[in-house]
Amino acid sequence: MVNDSLHGLVEQRLRQVCQRYTNGRREVVELLARAGYPVSIGDIAELAPRLPRSSAYRHLVNLQQAGVVRRVSGNDEFSRFELAEEITEHHHHLVCTHCGKVIDVTPTKAFEEAMNKYLASLAASHGFASDDHRLDILGSCSTCRAPQPQL
Ligand SMILES: [Zn+2]
Ligand SMILES: [Zn+2]
Repeated sequence: MVNDSLHGLVEQRLRQVCQRYTNGRREVVELLARAGYPVSIGDIAELAPRLPRSSAYRHLVNLQQAGVVRRVSGNDEFSRFELAEEITEHHHHLVCTHCGKVIDVTPTKAFEEAMNKYLASLAASHGFASDDHRLDILGSCSTCRAPQPQL
């Protein structure tokens, strides 16, 4: 999904908040698009070793203000970031409570329809109109579930 339409869209969003699409910001957007999972600052340091952590963080904050990037809460103290759903697509997260890994998952259309129906009635019982939802599934990833070698 790293293509001209992505960059065009990001540039437009940044312009709406009077920000320019600098090379550093572009690098961060490409990294997020290529990673395919919510990345922490530590992940960014691994994926783009030449990009200083402080600049990476600053770019993420700017991109978040422009509505291009969303902060994802994991199970540890580290923030993770991904491209906003309006840019990618609606999805959910599998959060490993052991290693902190966050995996993107896209449910079926039938799942989303059923889920929206249940959530709408739950919200309506409080006089609340639901527009959208976020759902993270907590558990253990396949690596953490694998039998540990005996020491
Ligand atoms: Zn894990
Ligand atoms: Zn959903």
